[in-house]
Amino acid sequence: GKRILTDFNHLIKEAALLSYHGMKAGKKPFPVEIDFELDNQIGEIPVFAEELSMATINLCNNAWDAMREKLIALSLQSKNKTYSPKLLIKTRKDPRSLLFSIQDNGSGIPEDIKDKILQPFFTTKKGTEGTGLGLSITNDIVKAHGGELKIKSEEGVGTEFTILLPLKS
Ligand code: ADP
Ligand code: MG
Repeated sequence: GKRILTDFNHLIKEAALLSYHGMKAGKKPFPVEIDFELDNQIGEIPVFAEELSMATINLCNNAWDAMREKLIALSLQSKNKTYSPKLLIKTRKDPRSLLFSIQDNGSGIPEDIKDKILQPFFTTKKGTEGTGLGLSITNDIVKAHGGELKIKSEEGVGTEFTILLPLKS
């Protein structure tokens, strides 16, 4: 593929909203708040646009699944009224890199599987619900940009994926 000069914030926002509408139109919709904190200094960046869009969709899809899982678990304990699913998407431009993060307050990632989630075909989802390819593809896309994928997660609390993309000067 070829890099295409792209309005970075616009691409991220459109991809996240596409994923959101997909979840809402899907089999198991649930209420969720999405917030964007986008750095308006970013502007146009040469990226693999289709791929970056897909990476964003993959991360959002995982976030819905994790929040739905937590919602269902809490509902079974009749504690669902104390939980409001929330997704926060941020972008930031530093002198040398772009940061892009997706933070959910879903189920979190258990400590013992943290080192496996980037492996192709690793999934904790049942049946046909998960292919286990989303994160491995996302990681490949980040690497194609010369970037880095960072994961911060706490079981029961939530997860933040951060993508760092180097800016060429
Ligand atoms: P899939 O979504 O098909 O299972 P992925 O590669 O996208 O495959 O994710 C692999 C696994 O990583 C998931 O099955 C899940 O256990 C875990 N995971 C990924 N993202 C999150 C998240 N935001 N919150 C909790 N767990 C996650
Ligand atoms: Mg996935």
